[in-house]
Amino acid sequence: MRDYFYQIYQALFSITEGMAVTMSYLFRRPSTIQYPNKLESLLENQMPDRFRGILQVDISICIGCRLCEKTCPIDCIAIDIEKNKETKERFLTWFAIDISKCMYCGLCSENCSTTAIYHTKVFNGATREIDNLIVQFVSEPMKLVKAKKKDGLEETSKDLHGKILKEKMPTPNRDQTRKALIEKILG
Ligand code: SF4
Ligand code: SF4
Repeated sequence: MRDYFYQIYQALFSITEGMAVTMSYLFRRPSTIQYPNKLESLLENQMPDRFRGILQVDISICIGCRLCEKTCPIDCIAIDIEKNKETKERFLTWFAIDISKCMYCGLCSENCSTTAIYHTKVFNGATREIDNLIVQFVSEPMKLVKAKKKDGLEETSKDLHGKILKEKMPTPNRDQTRKALIEKILG
């Protein structure tokens, strides 16, 4: 009989103890944040500078070398270039990336001589249709740029970028350096 009441006491005690712990959380500051509605600032803005998110392509400075396409180990990138036989001008007619296949290795962006292809800090590509993740960057044929040589400047755009990479620019200046490089290429 005594054991019977002792077990009832133990059951009530453990329920009370458990509820006390649960109730105490009502008055504590939550350590989790509701994503994405209650973030203080966009999570993308909080990503480290070298974060490799979804790829973006600045077609205006692409020189159509196709290095990114060749470097990609899993064939995410597809590029088509057409040449005008009379004017010899080259046009980019297709530049698509299959984001659903991309493994964010960074090989394409690291090898791009003009920084035309680069990683953004955007990571959320959730979509109901997987085809939405094939991103096309060319809406109409785009004339490909050539690096301009300026006074005494003999480097091609590739050399220019290589130089910048070799200098191992400090990460916070990367956007700034990229901007300067774009200005130099478009001259
Ligand atoms: S990040 Fe890697 S996997 Fe993705 S497109 Fe570039 S090379 Fe391909
Ligand atoms: S490596 Fe850069 S410049 Fe060359 S095709 Fe790709 S995006 Fe364009």
